[in-house]
Amino acid sequence: MDFLPVTKEEIVKKGWKELDIVIITGDAYVDHPAFGTAVIGRVLEEKGYRVGIISMPDWRDPSSVTLLGRPRLFFGVTSGAVDSMLSKYTAFKRFRSNDPYRPGDSKFDRPDRAVITYCNHIKNNFKDVPVILGGIESSMRRIAHFDFWSNRVRRSIIEDARADILVYGMGEPQIVEIAGRISGGEGLMNIPGTIILSKEAPPDAVMLPSEEDSINDIESFLELYRLFFRNQHKVLAQKTAKRYIVHYPPPHTDTGVLDRVFALPFMNLPHPSYRETIPAYEMIKNSIISHRGCFSGCSFCSLSLHQGKRIVSRSSNSIITEIKNLTKNPEFNGHITDIGGPSANMYSFGCAVNYRCNRESCLSPSICPKIRFNTAKWISLLDDAASVKGVKKVSIGSGIRYDLFMKDPDSRPLLKKLVNSFISGQLKIAPEHTSERVLRAMRKQPIFNLREFVRLFKDYTDNAGKKQYLIPYLMSCHPGCEYRDMKDAKKDIQAIFNFIPDQVQAFIPLPMTLSSVIYYTGIDPITNESFPVTKDIAERRKQHNLFFE
Ligand code: SF4
Repeated sequence: MDFLPVTKEEIVKKGWKELDIVIITGDAYVDHPAFGTAVIGRVLEEKGYRVGIISMPDWRDPSSVTLLGRPRLFFGVTSGAVDSMLSKYTAFKRFRSNDPYRPGDSKFDRPDRAVITYCNHIKNNFKDVPVILGGIESSMRRIAHFDFWSNRVRRSIIEDARADILVYGMGEPQIVEIAGRISGGEGLMNIPGTIILSKEAPPDAVMLPSEEDSINDIESFLELYRLFFRNQHKVLAQKTAKRYIVHYPPPHTDTGVLDRVFALPFMNLPHPSYRETIPAYEMIKNSIISHRGCFSGCSFCSLSLHQGKRIVSRSSNSIITEIKNLTKNPEFNGHITDIGGPSANMYSFGCAVNYRCNRESCLSPSICPKIRFNTAKWISLLDDAASVKGVKKVSIGSGIRYDLFMKDPDSRPLLKKLVNSFISGQLKIAPEHTSERVLRAMRKQPIFNLREFVRLFKDYTDNAGKKQYLIPYLMSCHPGCEYRDMKDAKKDIQAIFNFIPDQVQAFIPLPMTLSSVIYYTGIDPITNESFPVTKDIAERRKQHNLFFE
């Protein structure tokens, strides 16, 4: 087992004359299944391709992308684990002071919309080598979208980057199919989970408003997202100046696919060339990903648009094998800090109609009766993990969806078990707000069962003689939220929790999310409801700071 090569010397050491594929990422290279670059590299390696990684290229130097030479097949390009604008600027459009995806949490040094810069450098050096876009920045800018930082609607990033194809979502089946097609000299049409530019729109495509109309006319922009949110399981097409963007529906993923990914030979470490620690790795190094996908469809979140709303869970065998391997690491201290996914307690949940529906959220405006709950299976997984030799403690660091927990028919005994065995001092929950209007805009449920959850948590904690606390996460400045709503939320939260939390995040309209559409237009495109929107930076600060006064 070894790392994927990051220098020419490492390529030579492997006995290779050239690479088939070069992946460029704005992050440090961490060879761990929680990092997309490593996953895509390892998946391609398993298929027999020679893959190398250029991490954190000096974006001011166009020759930085030539470090590993000309790949035989293609370049894969990602900004890294986070959209470059989000990791570079705060909610108030100031520079962030640190970058947890780089060694030493170093001060940010990436270009705006990084994939465009990296792709331009590639095109300037290797004009005829295909370029494949992937990762969250590309995924969440795949059609015309509102860009908070430039305060305007931008066209799909595939056009600005002049790329050959864009992969959205997690990308494993897509990248294997793309590599096979390029290797065989075939075209890149009809690959699920991708976007291409084409001279023609497929005859069966749902036609979205044109790019020009979407950029210049608010009604067209709203119609674009109305159609997009409702028809993601179909082929979509949008006319651009000269061609059509064609959006193929997501690929099918299942437990077998995930288990195979997590069984790949990851080193589970950052590349040894880094002398300083990488905070993002330190945070997850003792945690386990149990599933992908999210039912919630919260308006402000990218996750269900990126990973999909289908919950795909790993088998417990696959998870326990990973834990057994982790215990062999001499630096492992015996504490598994999380077993979860986008929302930990959704592990192994399902849908009675196999997700054949066009609701954007399974939890809003009410919890769908077709959800197949399985919290007991998750708790039993935590039990199995805790009984692995070398594990002293398992806790849920990422937090849970308390509203979903309370809807499970077995919620009380399961919560008691969670409280007694799997909390390390604190449990995070995210009511986000208390105002009905704001929660409606967020696509979250009213907080009617929050009080009951808090009461049960406290009772079980007291009965167990433990000192542990619920930490509520909240959001300011979301569409629908005015200063007085934040004031009321502060009062409500104090009454429910008996303290004022620090965990208040200022809303940032992330590209392509429903909240970004409401922020830009003041209208929810699905319900047509209008919401007040606070855009002025000083007003946003005033609203946000209220919790800290
Ligand atoms: S039927 Fe219900 S549970 Fe299934 S995908 Fe639709 S909203 Fe979600």
